[in-house]
Amino acid sequence: MTSAAAALLLALLQHASAAQQPATAAPYTVLSREGRRPLAARTMAGQEMFALDDLARLFNVTVREDAAAGGLTVTAGTQTIVLSAGQSLASVSGRLVSLPAPPVREGRTWYVPVDFVPRALALAVGGKVELRKPSRLILVGDIRVPRIVGRIEPLGNLARLTVDVSPATPHTVTQEGTRLTVRFEADGLDAALPATTSPDFIANVRPGDGPATIAIDLGPRFSSFRTVDTPADRGTSRLVIDVIAQTTEPQPSPSTATPTPTPAAPAPQVPETPPLIDLAPAGTLRAIVIDAGHGGAEEGAKGPGGALEKQVTLSVARRLKAALESRLGLRVILTRDGDTTIGLDERAAVANNNKADLFVSLHANASPRAAISGAQVFYLSLDEYGDAAERAAHTESESLPVFGGGSRDIELILWDMAQARYIKESAALAQSVEASLRQRIPMNARAIQQAPFRVLVGANMPAVLVEMGFITNPGQEKQLQSDEFQNQIVQSLVESITRFRDAHSGSHQAGGR
Ligand SMILES: [Zn+2]
Repeated sequence: MTSAAAALLLALLQHASAAQQPATAAPYTVLSREGRRPLAARTMAGQEMFALDDLARLFNVTVREDAAAGGLTVTAGTQTIVLSAGQSLASVSGRLVSLPAPPVREGRTWYVPVDFVPRALALAVGGKVELRKPSRLILVGDIRVPRIVGRIEPLGNLARLTVDVSPATPHTVTQEGTRLTVRFEADGLDAALPATTSPDFIANVRPGDGPATIAIDLGPRFSSFRTVDTPADRGTSRLVIDVIAQTTEPQPSPSTATPTPTPAAPAPQVPETPPLIDLAPAGTLRAIVIDAGHGGAEEGAKGPGGALEKQVTLSVARRLKAALESRLGLRVILTRDGDTTIGLDERAAVANNNKADLFVSLHANASPRAAISGAQVFYLSLDEYGDAAERAAHTESESLPVFGGGSRDIELILWDMAQARYIKESAALAQSVEASLRQRIPMNARAIQQAPFRVLVGANMPAVLVEMGFITNPGQEKQLQSDEFQNQIVQSLVESITRFRDAHSGSHQAGGR
């Protein structure tokens, strides 16, 4: 403990033993490198005031009363503040600053408006002193206390907690039993935490055990969670935490006449892999993200019989997950495991935050001409992304920008051009997928292509997009919905991913991705 901290602690003990003052307002908290200290406030004539003696102890300044002149001097090193009874002004080493009210004497104690701290005291003591009235904080010196604003939205089989962090601050999200803990690399938090609107998923959001942590108490429907982290405007960042229920697909009711018989997708028996736990040794193909295209409000393409692309992609994604987990022992993460709306950038972010080694996006194609059919495999074309892509493609991974130094679990890499570095590997994967598919299902005349797909551009690993067939072709619409066809696609992808793993395991063990 520093001597200043010892003096401060002593001052607080003395203050605590003083007689209780009337009209006490909620105390402020003074946050500095020495720690956090309460600072009593009281309301006098509608103004929040601090006792000058408290400020003297906390800020290591001396106060001297000049009874004859009816004033006070506050000395901090070589700087002097002069206050006069009855005047809403302070002179800080000759410079006049206004105060919302004059100092008030009561008994032997002088009180000054709380604004005295940032307007006068800060000038005298030098360094940063910030008064945050709404959160009743006084920040002293170079300490990090980000503003945190959260909100909770119910979204079907998940609840989404969105946390805006200003300024952007590195953090981790961990699960401990029925609680998630968000730990910020900061000295404190200036947090406005939301009341829950989805108690089945999120029972409560509250300050955590540490000074810079938030605790999320999980509700009874919690099964898994995922986090997505995105840089936002002006140095702020947004953390999205989805608390996801065990998937229970609504079974079609027998009494309802369904015009299009769609085969029910088998719900996966394996619960979603918890993200952000990175224990496996680096080097081999460990994790893969399967992205079921579209979902929720975005139905994707629609067949003449009414089949929806979003249903086909989810069904194949679930089958592929089960197959990869059981046959290859891979950790498989789905960008969605329900009928939910997910943004394109978010899908790549799921893969990046989970440090996935491969990203496969599943889609079904559409054409105004019903006769068009056949599968296609895409990887990213950078042409449309211009110079930035060119630069990113020739940048080593170590020099990609990492905001705030990153953290163990989440690295805020500038994802925008992440895929540029993996174009060659993505092309190889696409060729392998195309070759496997060709042996089992009809292929389009242009079976392998490059295209500027937004969903691929941010993926920080080899990534391909598979258009499994044309849902606008009546024959293919039926195929795309069938178990047989879907299983053929799964088989093809398992085969090509196995080949990719085998081809890359050598170089991975040699040390690089
Ligand atoms: Zn699509």
